[in-house]
Amino acid sequence: MSTYERIEFLKSLPMDAKAIAEYIWIDGTGSGLRSKARTFDTGKSAPSPSELPIWNFDGSSTGQAPGEDSEVLLKPQAVFRDPFRGGKDILVVCDCYEPNGNPIKTNTRAAAAAIFKDKRVVDEVPWYGIEQEYTLLNAETHWPLGWPKNGYPGPQGPYYCAVGHDRMFGRDICDAHYKACLFAGVNISGINGEVMPGQWEYQVGPSVGISAGDELVVSRYLLERTCEAAGVLCSLDPKPIPGDWNGAGCHTNFSTKSMRESKPGTRSGWDAIVAGIEKLALKHAEHIAAYGEGNERRLTGRHETASMEAFSWGVANRGASVRVGRNTETDGCGYMEDRRPSSNMDPYVVTSLIAKNIILG
Ligand code: ADP
Ligand code: MN
Ligand code: MN
Ligand code: MN
Ligand code: MN
Repeated sequence: MSTYERIEFLKSLPMDAKAIAEYIWIDGTGSGLRSKARTFDTGKSAPSPSELPIWNFDGSSTGQAPGEDSEVLLKPQAVFRDPFRGGKDILVVCDCYEPNGNPIKTNTRAAAAAIFKDKRVVDEVPWYGIEQEYTLLNAETHWPLGWPKNGYPGPQGPYYCAVGHDRMFGRDICDAHYKACLFAGVNISGINGEVMPGQWEYQVGPSVGISAGDELVVSRYLLERTCEAAGVLCSLDPKPIPGDWNGAGCHTNFSTKSMRESKPGTRSGWDAIVAGIEKLALKHAEHIAAYGEGNERRLTGRHETASMEAFSWGVANRGASVRVGRNTETDGCGYMEDRRPSSNMDPYVVTSLIAKNIILG
């Protein structure tokens, strides 16, 4: 047995009464992910978040607490299967609290959860479909995967959804991540190669309410873990390469119950969509401010984006802030796509702000 085979053998040993829970949280940067593992006693089915113990970590090592009072509490919020360990092992998305029970400053989930618990929001069953774009980087050069060293590939055009050794860089990573998400229980709906070579996209959703944020967080964790195993870096920078190269976004598709269906003989779904978009227009600046760090490098009005200065919307328009699909216009109901959020956006902030301004606004 090689060392590698021996490690694989040990990792595959069956476990009966015990399993491993990997607790995941967002660190002091607001986007970085951290995790650590603990053992739990297995039952017939996977534990629910409330059956798992609250845990803690050293917040002074993650930029989340001072050294003299460093304990931050980890509260389990969502449970997924662990595709890396397999078996009954689980991944646990957590949020962070001070010992007195208040959410810590970087806990954006708590405020989002409060919005998603509002009865008016619950009654509208808000659906989200989030298109996460990301760029794979060579670990030594930090240059996009597959790009010539110290140089550039040919201009954009042939790469989007393409096939071929000279066009697609990192497909196995993208595909492995896709399967990892499906195994975990993430509601991942698809993947595609992007316009910029070395850039990929996956979509999470439709997912309801706060679950969209939890699923996106665990999907990003799985992407980091997949890249870690592959020896490749992953960037969520909104404009990894300046110039004539597409940036990376996180288009957020959204619908309410009122938008998804029309009352018989009317276009009430369409009317609800237009009314929602008009509310977004009024709050454009608030949304732009919340839609991701460095997004101003991406939202230039070029490369399939709208300028961040002014709100715009249109049917089938990829140069608008908000796009509505042709099918939605034809059917008289459906959903809208907010194209403004950047790849590094906080999904709890973005999803809850859309719900707040459209449903409660
Ligand atoms: P695009 O055409 O912009 O590339 P994608 O197919 O990449 O769109 O992503 C669309 C996302 O929207 C998917 O995750 C899909 O599941 C989701 N979606 C579909 N219908 C709805 C809906 N009614 N409300 C919210 N999201 C939806
Ligand atoms: Mn210790
Ligand atoms: Mn897409
Ligand atoms: Mn895309
Ligand atoms: Mn899109």
